[in-house]
Amino acid sequence: MYKVHPLVVGQAHVGAVLDVFWSLTKAQGQVEVPILAFLIEGGPEPILVDTGMRNPERAQTVHRLGVHSTTPEQSLQAQLARHDLGLEDVRTTVLTHLHYDHSGGVELLPNSRFVVQRTELMAAAAPMGPDDLELGSRDMFFDRKDVAALVDPLWDRVDLIEGDRRILPGIDCVLYANSHTPGSQCVYVETEDGVVALVGDMVRKVDLNIGKEIPPGLFYDLESMMRAMADIKARADLIYPAHDPRVASLGHAYTGPQDE
Ligand SMILES: [Zn+2]
Repeated sequence: MYKVHPLVVGQAHVGAVLDVFWSLTKAQGQVEVPILAFLIEGGPEPILVDTGMRNPERAQTVHRLGVHSTTPEQSLQAQLARHDLGLEDVRTTVLTHLHYDHSGGVELLPNSRFVVQRTELMAAAAPMGPDDLELGSRDMFFDRKDVAALVDPLWDRVDLIEGDRRILPGIDCVLYANSHTPGSQCVYVETEDGVVALVGDMVRKVDLNIGKEIPPGLFYDLESMMRAMADIKARADLIYPAHDPRVASLGHAYTGPQDE
């Protein structure tokens, strides 16, 4: 049985519109959310899921978002050290997707392979979208420095997968194509509390996105997104969004509106 630990690797001011389908939310303001990575322990090796952001300033200058920040205690190194691990101890990192706040600074991990969907890396390298998005610019929230690190010099450690893959017994990557991003994947982990879903940004608010079946604000294909949310709901006992303050302060996790 595995244990999943959230690692708080930063915080971000982002529009509440990212939480809800087509921005159809009454909450139009900015919200402060944590940026989370996750550590899976209890198996033959520690598994890292996501790495946080490369540089908080780039969130504003490149991605045109609100204030992002990290503290020294929120560095990946410091967060791993709380679990008696160093950056060099991580041999497997799963990237749920390649947005700037999930795959930043991959080269900080000197011994890790990086498990990523091929379609995600392809999409991140040449993102399809408007030339000049007001939020996201031409990069569509992919940081070219992360993509560049993965395609070279880390290329020999990039473990491209297509579709679903069992990483270890009880740890499964599942592709949800054209959902939050072209190649977003969720990591399902068997724990004492049931199956934990590390969903990246497939789910931002469990009560809205899963409880009320309203998709989050950023997705590529509505039908794919709706099917993905239904599949996550069916598979998972606990859902850990990567920007949920309540997940950041775990032990407590929640699964839906019944827990509100
Ligand atoms: Zn994110």
